[in-house]
Amino acid sequence: MGLVIYIDMDYFFAACEEKRHPELKGRPLAVGTSDSADKLRGVVQTCNYEARKYGIRSGMPTLKAFQLYKDLQYVKADDAYYEEVSNAIMEYLSSLGFPLEKMSIDEAAIDVGDLGYGKANELAERIKEEIKQRLGLPCTIGISIGKVFAKMACDKAKPDGLLTLDEVHLHEFLKSTDVKKLPGVGSKSYEKLSAMGVKSIADIRNIDPLRLVDEFGSFGRELYALAGGIDESKVVSEERVLSISRERTLRGLEDQQKEIDSMLEVLSKEVIAELNKRKMEFGGVGVKVRYVDFSEKVRDRSLSYYSNSYDVLYSNAVSMIRELSRANKVRKIGVKAYRLGNMSGQKKLF
Ligand SMILES: [Mg+2]
Repeated sequence: MGLVIYIDMDYFFAACEEKRHPELKGRPLAVGTSDSADKLRGVVQTCNYEARKYGIRSGMPTLKAFQLYKDLQYVKADDAYYEEVSNAIMEYLSSLGFPLEKMSIDEAAIDVGDLGYGKANELAERIKEEIKQRLGLPCTIGISIGKVFAKMACDKAKPDGLLTLDEVHLHEFLKSTDVKKLPGVGSKSYEKLSAMGVKSIADIRNIDPLRLVDEFGSFGRELYALAGGIDESKVVSEERVLSISRERTLRGLEDQQKEIDSMLEVLSKEVIAELNKRKMEFGGVGVKVRYVDFSEKVRDRSLSYYSNSYDVLYSNAVSMIRELSRANKVRKIGVKAYRLGNMSGQKKLF
């Protein structure tokens, strides 16, 4: 069973605005649907945590928000910009090479397979750090055995948190968490469950599953399973893994070429290890170079065969990257294996 890492950006639209207008940071800020001139007609889409301290919430009429805090800073939502930032986040997450499901503009789930809790936790820490470094945005991450529990862990750890619900903690969590926190339990279901004596999620187990199915249909079956710590919601990736890549920043040693070569060795080994783990082969090699002025160049090369060989990956990558790194000072390099196929039964491509 694959572990799920669930990533949810914190106060996403408002965080995007804080990022490009740092002067907005630190004071209550709302992003709303209407032009600033006409703001009192609209609704708050997102607000930062400073605004939440005053009771301001998403979905609230902007007029009400201003009543709660009269000096509220206000920005009209810029969907195209948030979409762009979202794409950058999703692109980064998919570059990790695991199946990815985009849940919304600022939420995604990745299936890290049998990585184990310890490694998944390390990976999640790295993801938080990378998103903060690259995009200047905070996020919260939950880890558990399925999408539902991973999302709940994520909700609980907000903001800027990381929470793992492993088998041990999950049990305690289900006993201590109000059933209305379960995704899918709206006010109606909540009333029904309360009437059956259910308070915590685990309490659902006290009810006859047949009665649950009577009351809630197939959702009743799901409720019963979830209450018992069984989460079968899987990550459904839109496309299978298209490439596996690794990249890293150089330390800026005296001999750049030497440093690039040895880092490329490390990165190539990591890509091969990941391919082996997935029992996959590659039919294309790509490299990326980021220069000290942050401009980037990429080179791709398709092979006439599939391979899982380190030598094939490294030799192709090193020749392309030498070409790109000869003249300019390099800050970061990346290597990618693409045109992936399963190890068994691959034939020549041409
Ligand atoms: Mg969010």
